Amino acid sequence: MTEPNIFTQYLKKRNVLVKNKKILQTSYIPENLPHRDEQIHIIVEIIAPALEKNKASNILIIGKTGTGKTAVMNYIGKELKKADPSEESCTFILINCEIVDTPYGILYNIANYIISDPARKIPFTGWSVDKILSELTNYIEEKNKTFIIVLDEIDRSFQKNGDDIFYYLTSINDQLKNSTVSIIGITNNTKFTEFLSPKIKSRLGEEKIVFPPYTVDQLRDILYERAKEAFDENILSEEVIPYCAALTAQEGGDARVALNLLRMSADIAERNGDQFISEAHVRSAKNKIEIDAVTEVIKTLNPQSKVVLMSIIKNTEEGQTTMITGDVYSTYKMLCEITGIPAITQRRVGDLISELDMLGIVHARVKSFGRAGRTKEIELNIPKNVTEILKADDMFKDIDKYRPAKQTTLM
Ligand code: ADP
Ligand code: MG
Repeated sequence: MTEPNIFTQYLKKRNVLVKNKKILQTSYIPENLPHRDEQIHIIVEIIAPALEKNKASNILIIGKTGTGKTAVMNYIGKELKKADPSEESCTFILINCEIVDTPYGILYNIANYIISDPARKIPFTGWSVDKILSELTNYIEEKNKTFIIVLDEIDRSFQKNGDDIFYYLTSINDQLKNSTVSIIGITNNTKFTEFLSPKIKSRLGEEKIVFPPYTVDQLRDILYERAKEAFDENILSEEVIPYCAALTAQEGGDARVALNLLRMSADIAERNGDQFISEAHVRSAKNKIEIDAVTEVIKTLNPQSKVVLMSIIKNTEEGQTTMITGDVYSTYKMLCEITGIPAITQRRVGDLISELDMLGIVHARVKSFGRAGRTKEIELNIPKNVTEILKADDMFKDIDKYRPAKQTTLM
């Protein structure tokens, strides 16, 4: 028996609804990937020759986030391991370029995965890229087999380093006689190939496979499949999965978003001590996800933008729900005095308002006032409780000293 402790009351209240939490996590690789049979079939057909030590074509996989690219490649890696358990013919490696994003880092990871002999391991730093590349090429050649190297999120590495790494890796084959290397690049950026040099484009994109966003019906199937394993019967009320799927499809069909929504709905129901999960829990989860996202954006604004946003909040609170740039600017100047932030010009403030508009925090419409020229008509577009987050910012600790200026009235 454990001693009574501060956690007891929480655990008692919490009702366990999710039988297996791991299954709802986005890192979990399911045995079954609904609606990706076609893509899996094409990829398997292309890389199957590798199991007979023949070179497989390079592949470029393109699709927005949450379309199952990483899940499919992990699944194929697992299947390949079943086909060749001792990796006698083919070694499969998946590197996430978001985590390792320098050419040295990528080559270091590939090399040390492949090189099992401790005496020949590559040091963490200190070698030139050419030296690692030649050591790696020698090792690969000695192994007399095929290597499939999957580079996930290649746009990350590309943004930092250009396409050198793809050049290095795709040209290893030029020096090999006994072994072969195939590269599978995965990108979330549908325009990725436009940025590649023509030579790399033709090498890397020998085969191009597109992963389209999931439709509402497909998301529903994916969620049902996961839910079957994660929940006992009668825990999810009927409308939960269709509702999660519908909300996610509207926003672009990202399976990760759909899974997170389901997981958070379950979490909220559990914390409330409820017996089952309903549409209301999904609604709360959705709300929380949105608020968290806006909160994050607001917290990372620069100080000038924070003062501009606070000016719009103050005007709104004074009853002016629609305002023009001049109204924001008068309040802004006063807040600059209170916060000690140097005031910038009205024109620059106008630019910052446009940025806030792009972030979805305010609505700004350009309005023509005839000969008087054009100005913006501005409205706040965040929930009230989110404004509290900005007010809690240390720079606004003296904000109570603020007194509203006389308002300009809109025509
Ligand atoms: P991407 O790499 O395209 O951004 P992921 O492969 O990481 O997307 O998928 C995001 C999440 O959705 C993962 O948890 C994955 O398991 C799940 N997922 C994606 N597609 C499917 C599918 N067809 N069936 C089941 N789960 C899927
Ligand atoms: Mg991915």
